[in-house]
Amino acid sequence: MLPTLYNLLADAENGMGNYRQALEFSQKALSALGGRPNFTSLAGLHESRAKSYAGLGDFAHAYTESLAWKTASDSLAVLEKAAQVADVESRYRTREQKAIIDEQELTIARQKNRNQNLLIGALLAILILGGAFQFLRQRERLKKQRAELALALEQAEAGKLRELDKVKSAFFANISHEFRTPLTLIVGPLREMEQGVFTGNSGKYYGIMRRNAERLLQLVNQLLDLSRLESGRLSLQPRPGDLFNTLRSTAFSFESLADQKQISYEVRVPASPLWVAYDADKLEKIVGNLLSNAFKFTRDEGRVELSAEVHPMAGQPDMLQLQIRVSDTGIGIPAAQQDRIFDRFYQVENSGADLQPGSGIGLALTKELVALHAGTIMLNSMESQGTTFVVVLPFRVAEVQEAVAGVPVETAAWSESPGSVTDDNAPHAAHALPLILVVEDNPDVRNYICDHLRDHYRLLEAADGQTGLDLARSDLPDLVLTDLMMPGLDGIALTQQLKSDVRTDHIPVIMLTAKADRSDRLAGIDTGAEAYLTKPFDREELRLIVGRMIEQRKLLQEKFRREIRLGLSETAEPSLDELFLRKVLAIIEENLDDETFSVETLAAEVAMSRSNLFRKLNALLAKSPNVLIRELRLQRAKQLIERGAGNATQVSFMVGFNSPTYFATCFREMFGYPPSEIMRHTTIQG
Ligand code: ADP
Repeated sequence: MLPTLYNLLADAENGMGNYRQALEFSQKALSALGGRPNFTSLAGLHESRAKSYAGLGDFAHAYTESLAWKTASDSLAVLEKAAQVADVESRYRTREQKAIIDEQELTIARQKNRNQNLLIGALLAILILGGAFQFLRQRERLKKQRAELALALEQAEAGKLRELDKVKSAFFANISHEFRTPLTLIVGPLREMEQGVFTGNSGKYYGIMRRNAERLLQLVNQLLDLSRLESGRLSLQPRPGDLFNTLRSTAFSFESLADQKQISYEVRVPASPLWVAYDADKLEKIVGNLLSNAFKFTRDEGRVELSAEVHPMAGQPDMLQLQIRVSDTGIGIPAAQQDRIFDRFYQVENSGADLQPGSGIGLALTKELVALHAGTIMLNSMESQGTTFVVVLPFRVAEVQEAVAGVPVETAAWSESPGSVTDDNAPHAAHALPLILVVEDNPDVRNYICDHLRDHYRLLEAADGQTGLDLARSDLPDLVLTDLMMPGLDGIALTQQLKSDVRTDHIPVIMLTAKADRSDRLAGIDTGAEAYLTKPFDREELRLIVGRMIEQRKLLQEKFRREIRLGLSETAEPSLDELFLRKVLAIIEENLDDETFSVETLAAEVAMSRSNLFRKLNALLAKSPNVLIRELRLQRAKQLIERGAGNATQVSFMVGFNSPTYFATCFREMFGYPPSEIMRHTTIQG
C-alpha cells in the first residue's frame, strides 16, 4: 500500500516538475517495497525515477533507471506470461481432473452397475438355488410321503389280509361245524340203518335226516347266492304278480316251526292282492332269512310277528313302497355289535350258542338282496328284549292285465270278472319257445346239455334236485331233464315229487343216467319218468328225444283243447291230466248260469290255490281258468240258441253274462260271427 502511495506521490511531483521531490518519494517507495519483488510496482517506480532523472538532466541515471524499468517490465511480462501459462495449465488440469473425475464417476457408476448386476445375479442365484433346494426338498418329502403311504397301504393291506384270513378261518371253522353237525345227524342213523342195527323210531329219524339235509342245501344255496351277488351275476327278475300272496306263503311256511317251539306267531299281511312287478324268489329269501333268525334267536314261548304295509311314493305314481317288519321277543343283539351283524360270516359271540348254530351268512345275503332292490334294511334291538328288522323296498305297480299276460306268473294273476278280455294265447305268444329245466349236478354235463338245447328252447338250470324241484314248482317248465344220481334229492326222488304234486304232475321227465340197468329203469319208470337217456349220449339223440317229448306235449295240449270244445272222450284208463280236466269241466258246467261263479270258486272246488290252478290249466291247455270259463259259457250259449232256447240277449243271461253287448263281442271273437247269425251258420253246416 505504502509503495503505491509513494509511487503516486512521485508521479504527481514528476508531473509538477519537482523531480527531486519525486526521486525522494520513489526512493521511499523502493525502500517500502524492501526485498519483495512486485514487478508492477517496480516497473512503475523505475519508470517514474527514469522520468525524474531525465527531468533533472541526469541521463546516466535516467538510462540505468530505464534499464531497471525495462527489466521490471519484462519480468512483469514474463510473470504475466507465466501466470497465463499457469492459468491455461490450471484450466487444462482442471479439465483433466474433471475428465478423471468423470471417468472415476463412470467407473464408480460402472462399478455400481456391476455391483447391482452382481447383486441381482446373486439374488437370482439365491432364488434359483433356494427354489431348487425347495424343489428337491419337496421332492424328497413327497418321495418320503409316498413311501410312507405305500408302507401304510401295505400294512393296511396286510392287516386286511390278516383280518380276511381270520374271518376266513373262522368261517371255515363255522362252516365245517355247520356241515358236520347235520352230516353227523344224517350219516349216523343212516349207517345204523344200513347195518341193520338201527333201533330208534325210523319215521322220526327220516324227518331229522331230511331236515338236516335241507339245512345243508340251504347253506350251500346261500353261499352260491352270495358269490353270485358278489360277482354281479345275480340280478332281479321282476314279474308282475300278487306280492302279498308270496309274502303270505313265505310267512306260513314258518307255522310248523312256531308250533314246535310254541312261539306265538302273528302274520299281518293285508288280505287284498298287491299287484306289482317283483322277484318272488329274492323276496322270499329276504323275508325267510329274517323270519328264520327271529325263530332261531327266540326262546320257546316267545313271540314273532311279521307285518307288511304299502305306501305310495311321493312324485312317482307308478311306484309303491313296501314296508316289511319282522320282530321277535328273542335274545336281542348287543348295541356294540349291531352294525357288524350284516358283515359276512359275522356272528354275535356266544349269542345263540345254546340255540342253533349259524354261519353268519343269512344277514349278509339279506342285506345284499335288499340293496339289489335299491331298498333299505334297519334294525332296532335291545339285549334280552327282542329285535325288529324293518325292510323297505320299492316296487313298480303292475296292472292286473299285465300280470295276466306276463306268464309265467308268480301267483294267481288273472282278472276276477268273467267278462274281462284276456288273450288266452298270450302266454305262448310271449314266450314262444318251450321252457326246459335241466337238473344236473355236474356242471360240464349240464353245460353240454344246455349248449345243445339253447337254440331251440328256453332253459332253466339247477345244480341239485331240490333247486330243480323249486324251479319246477315256481316256473312250471314244459319238460324236465334230470340226472338220476345227485347228492340230496336225486332224480328218482325229484320225479316222484313232481308226479305226486297236482301242480307239476303233467310235466314230462327225461331221466339221464350213467348206468341204465334194469333195476334203475324200473325204479325210474315206477316214479313216472317218461323217458331215459343213457350217458354218454350224443347231441342228436338228446335233441331228438327232447323234441319228441315237447311235440307229444303239444299234441296232448291240442287234444285237450279240442276235447273241451267237443266234450272229453271217455277213455278206459284216463291219465291224471284227463281226470283233472274232467273234474274242472264238470264244475264249470254245473255253474254256467251262475254269474257270481268265479275262478276263486273253481279253485276252491278242485282244492287248489288260485295260482296253482292257473298254472296247471295254463300248462294243460295254454288257457287261463278265466278264459276257459268264458269259452264254456259261450259254447253253452251257442247250443242253447241253436236249440231255440231263447234269443241272444236271453241266452246271454242264462250263461252268466250280465251284458248282452259284451256277450256278443266275446261270441264273435270266439266263433268269428255274431250270435244273431247262428241260425244261418247252423243251416249252412247242417
Ligand atoms: P346266522 O347264520 O348266524 O344266523 P346271520 O347273518 O343270519 O347269520 O346273523 C348274524 C348274527 O346276527 C347271528 O349270528 C346273530 O348273532 C345275530 N342275529 C341275527 N338276527 C337276530 C335276531 N333276530 N335276534 C338276535 N340276534 C340276531
